[in-house]
Amino acid sequence: MTLLIAKAIYVCLAVGWYALRYPHARRARKTPVVRSARGAREIALLLISLTGLGVLPLVYAATGFPAFADYPFRPLQAWFGLAVAIAALAMFFATHQALGRNWSVSLDVRQNHKLITEGVYRSVRHPMYTAFWLWAVAQALLLPNWVAGLAGLVGFGILYFLRVGQEEQLMLDTFGEDYRAYMARTKRLIPGVY
Ligand code: SAH
Repeated sequence: MTLLIAKAIYVCLAVGWYALRYPHARRARKTPVVRSARGAREIALLLISLTGLGVLPLVYAATGFPAFADYPFRPLQAWFGLAVAIAALAMFFATHQALGRNWSVSLDVRQNHKLITEGVYRSVRHPMYTAFWLWAVAQALLLPNWVAGLAGLVGFGILYFLRVGQEEQLMLDTFGEDYRAYMARTKRLIPGVY
């Protein structure tokens, strides 16, 4: 394992995520939105998350900027990063398969929106956010740079903590008792833990 390979693995993670999501994004666009919590705040959160998980690490992978924040590369750390990156992509695949047309990049309720509570949604309510956390951890392990490596944890962390409560409220407003019961028997990100 070398630094160049670790950077390439990060790029594969970003490209792989986009490729997995693309067909679902295309299909989802055809299903009208009937209710939404989108707004300036959601757009700002999406931009912050995109910068942390995508823009800063891609600039680092391509140019080495910001070099002042580099620390020594450790191959073992990058091997762990590879394992976490594979887990993240597997989770993205499983969550998109399960959510199907009910997926949105933001907080939307679509026509004939179905509450999904099976498959990877059986014991956690936000497995796609689990996948993004795994991405952020993989990025931190793969890129030996305090800024580019940690930017994903910070950027996605801001989106996650400011969005998850709003999303659950939207689901409660839409699905009422069904979502309340689902909340009572599930955790947010890690089965049985949190
Ligand atoms: N928070 C979920 C979904 C992220 S995608 C996860 O991490 O897996 C965001 C969209 O998913 C929102 O527009 C919301 O309407 C929808 N959504 C969230 N939970 C859902 C569920 N259990 N079933 C169906 N749609 C859901």
